[in-house]
Amino acid sequence: MTLTKYDVAIVGGGIAGLTAAIYAAKAGKKTIVLEQSKRLGGRAITNKKQGVYFNLGGHALYNGEAYKTFRELGLKLEGSSPSVDAYGLWKNQLLTMPTNISSLLQSPLLSWGGKLEFAKWFIKFGKMDTRVLGQISIRDWIETEIQDPMLRNLFYSLLRTTTYTAALDLHPAGPALKHMQHALLGVFYLDKGWGSLVDELYEHAVQLEVKVVTNCKAALIEHHEQKVRSILCADGSKIDATNVILTTPPAISYNLVPHAEHTALDTWKKQAIAVTGACLDVGLRQLPNPKHQFIYGVDQPILYSNHSRAGKPRPAILSDDEIQVVSLFKYLGPQTDPEQDERELEQVLDLAQPGWRNHVVARQYLPKMTVVHDFPHLNRIENPGPTVPEIEGLYVAGDWASHGELLVDACVASAKRAVSQLSNVRKDTELCV
Ligand SMILES: Cc1cc2nc3c(=O)[nH]c(=O)nc-3n(C[C@H](O)[C@H](O)[C@H](O)COP(=O)(O)OP(=O)(O)OC[C@H]3O[C@@H](n4cnc5c(N)ncnc54)[C@H](O)[C@@H]3O)c2cc1C
Repeated sequence: MTLTKYDVAIVGGGIAGLTAAIYAAKAGKKTIVLEQSKRLGGRAITNKKQGVYFNLGGHALYNGEAYKTFRELGLKLEGSSPSVDAYGLWKNQLLTMPTNISSLLQSPLLSWGGKLEFAKWFIKFGKMDTRVLGQISIRDWIETEIQDPMLRNLFYSLLRTTTYTAALDLHPAGPALKHMQHALLGVFYLDKGWGSLVDELYEHAVQLEVKVVTNCKAALIEHHEQKVRSILCADGSKIDATNVILTTPPAISYNLVPHAEHTALDTWKKQAIAVTGACLDVGLRQLPNPKHQFIYGVDQPILYSNHSRAGKPRPAILSDDEIQVVSLFKYLGPQTDPEQDERELEQVLDLAQPGWRNHVVARQYLPKMTVVHDFPHLNRIENPGPTVPEIEGLYVAGDWASHGELLVDACVASAKRAVSQLSNVRKDTELCV
């Protein structure tokens, strides 16, 4: 029996779902969020283990669309903007990585010619118009634009880091470089992990009278005469809604909608390429080598980051007891071997922090995490959403529904896009996307 009819029902209580809910409620819509798990947050949850806060792999908030939106919403986002000092992993050695003028001069990774070229890029980079680079791959852009062979390697490593993807032949250069511009403006590690962001979004949604239901799995989106009618849940309950925003992955979204093969959901599912990685996170009572705080893998697809390192205004609070939380990530291709991947990540820790095993307080290994369910790759037929054109009132959002934005910026931008398309969105809350 249905008791209430909602203007907007959102499937999924991750960052995209909660953001969409806030904007729908701000637009005066009676809104409900359905989350299948007992906890909200999706891939942005944080687990506390022996007093240490672990995200599902290292998470950094870049100074992009999501950050600006969260600030506009008045979220506190307490945390730290960490130091950019870094090392490059090259031929099993850790060498100073050029991240500013002084490290550029010191770095043994580049010849003087390479340093000069890097300095030129450094000057023009912030002002580059990245929009014109939407159809060229990262690899083609690097091979065409960068002359020094070692500088090319450094750019591969930097752009792998900002995009989280190893598919540099498929990833367009424009969005990757834009994201790197955001990184140069600042990166934030959130106190108590991204779970604190989820909590803040939830509190904001509840203040706006959004109804949030956990342990509620959507099983079917009922539609009739090309119009959304209701959501049937796995427990047999039914939620009537004029609009439904799916923030579920493309394959799940497809499965939820009867006759999806006749809709754009079919194309979006088929074209999706997930970005995955192996994550090793450790809480260490102390760092055997405090110099090594951030490491770019130059000849290995690996990233190492101490999320507790010094920053402004202070280091991020990621434990109850000043434990150092170090995250390692391996960018995965199609072939994976969880044990081998773990060994490789441990070997990087051996190099960076010899004897680290004696200092472990907590540890988490996630062999294959999906970072994003799709990205704006060059083989895409079309950008997903915001509407599913064949079914009135049906929308999609989430990191995969990107129109060029990356990672959590795509979650937030797509959520705002979906809400901006809802019928009768009040003019004063119309969204700039
Ligand atoms: C290792 C790793 C590192 C990352 N690092 C960064 C980073 O540094 N910077 C950054 O910007 N981003 C990063 N990300 C990406 C970021 O975490 C994700 O883009 C974001 O959390 C995805 O949010 P979402 O709402 O789109 O999807 P999700 O978080 O997946 O949310 C979807 C929700 O839908 C729910 N759901 C699914 N099916 C149903 C159903 N049938 N009924 C009801 N609910 C359902 C799920 O339980 C889930 O809660 C990283 C991700 C990973 C894995």
